[in-house]
Amino acid sequence: MLLLNHFIDGAWYKDPSELPLDIENPATGEVYGQLYSASAKTVDHAYQAATAAFSKWSHLPAAERGDWLRKLADGIEARFDEFVQAESRDAGKPHSVSSTVDIPRAMANLRFFADAATQFASESHTTAAGGINFTMRHPLGPVACISPWNLPLYLFTWKIAPALAMGNTVVAKPSEITPVTAYLLADVAREIGFPKGVLNIVHGGGMPTGEAIVNHPSVKAVSFTGGTATGKRIASTLAPRLVKYSLELGGKNPVLIFDDCDLEAAVSMTARSSFSNSGQICLCGSRVYVQRGIYEKFKSRLIEKAGKLSIGAPDSAAQVGPLVSKAHLEKVKSYVDLAKEEGAEAIELGERLDSAAKEGYYMRPTILEGLRQNSRCVQEEIFGPVISLMPFDTEEEALELANDTVYGLSAVVWSSNINRCLRLSTHLQAGIVWVNTWMNRDLRTPFGGVGMSGYGREGGQEALRFFTETKNVCLEASK
Ligand code: NDP
Repeated sequence: MLLLNHFIDGAWYKDPSELPLDIENPATGEVYGQLYSASAKTVDHAYQAATAAFSKWSHLPAAERGDWLRKLADGIEARFDEFVQAESRDAGKPHSVSSTVDIPRAMANLRFFADAATQFASESHTTAAGGINFTMRHPLGPVACISPWNLPLYLFTWKIAPALAMGNTVVAKPSEITPVTAYLLADVAREIGFPKGVLNIVHGGGMPTGEAIVNHPSVKAVSFTGGTATGKRIASTLAPRLVKYSLELGGKNPVLIFDDCDLEAAVSMTARSSFSNSGQICLCGSRVYVQRGIYEKFKSRLIEKAGKLSIGAPDSAAQVGPLVSKAHLEKVKSYVDLAKEEGAEAIELGERLDSAAKEGYYMRPTILEGLRQNSRCVQEEIFGPVISLMPFDTEEEALELANDTVYGLSAVVWSSNINRCLRLSTHLQAGIVWVNTWMNRDLRTPFGGVGMSGYGREGGQEALRFFTETKNVCLEASK
């Protein structure tokens, strides 16, 4: 049985009075480990370590901090297979996904921000009288990073890397559902002698651990990725204290497919954008709108394409693994039941591989057809391998349907008409618009959503700015 301790002040830490929580393998339902849900006392210990370490870490040259981040990335690379297996076992991802997306991207995040911090520059403005304004950006102090279960190490490192690179110290918490790769990262930090107290990793559920992290009086900023309800709760805790926060939250992303698009490219990519990681990516397109003239053709090609997706155990050749937990599977299935009650047809796709275990939280990719726009299945985030498919007639109608949501994370447009693509890119309410592509990520670009999809931006300079305090200095030369 794997037992996860917290990592505080450069060492493992355990408080026997803390409640144990099971860690489950979603492919089998088997419990294979436990963590201890960090109490407010443990979280306080982590902040004390982070506060004590701040002065020395923040005064290191950016290049030296970058070297430490690169050593963390190298440490992951040296234990690559162990990280891949841990991520797949925790989250139910096929090995082919953990080994090509999650773990490589975690290393890339650390290396990218190691470099980015050394190339970070601030602004200067000359005054009319010949003086100068220049902007300083100081690290904040101890900051909190809280991440979800769908891309565990990928999103964990996406937060801690810019925070550390800019000279902050960190108290971080992975999701209680997928904690193992963050635990392994702590082991790498311990092995390489990462400076004590700079990176503290505590485990536990939203209650009590997440709350204690956000409520702590020493926290100078909170970077959070997770559900909208949790994000609102965090905002309402931090706003009265005027602590800054960045929130990357849920989505209900539209995909608009016009009759002048490259149909085969749109079909292939829509199969991916709908069902990758069993639809458990915040950027997955979950509302697919197709222009009426090509609707039937697109639908039959999508059914054919997604029908070939293989479903099975993460360590098999399957392309689609189980959902992350029993509770999540039940939630996703309840939406399919609801859609049927509302008169929709549920088209179930994919081929179950023989080797797939009988147990485990598997679900076939599903297309819901015949829903109304105001249906809960079209309006609420399902976060599973389920999409709605609906026709539209005109560009104006497509835009109206796409924007008819409280969310606004990303949108996808498939069309060969450049003017239409530009018009839609301007008017779509989303933080990210992909045109004739999907999940084409460049770590320098701003990342985040509007409306109920979040507040603030991550990525590149945006993340580096978030993790600093800005000060303008105005200097006038004496005459
Ligand atoms: P949750 O909001 O349930 O949890 C996210 C993290 O916050 C977890 O570590 C969780 O701990 C913790 N947490 C829960 N309650 C609190 C609290 N009161 N105070 C502080 N921390 C708390 O989200 P999920 O883990 O279920 O993740 C899925 C959601 O994440 C989806 O809505 C998805 O859209 C969104 N997401 C958004 C992305 C984006 O970039 N916009 C990217 C990826 C996902 P624990 O799990 O241990 O309870």
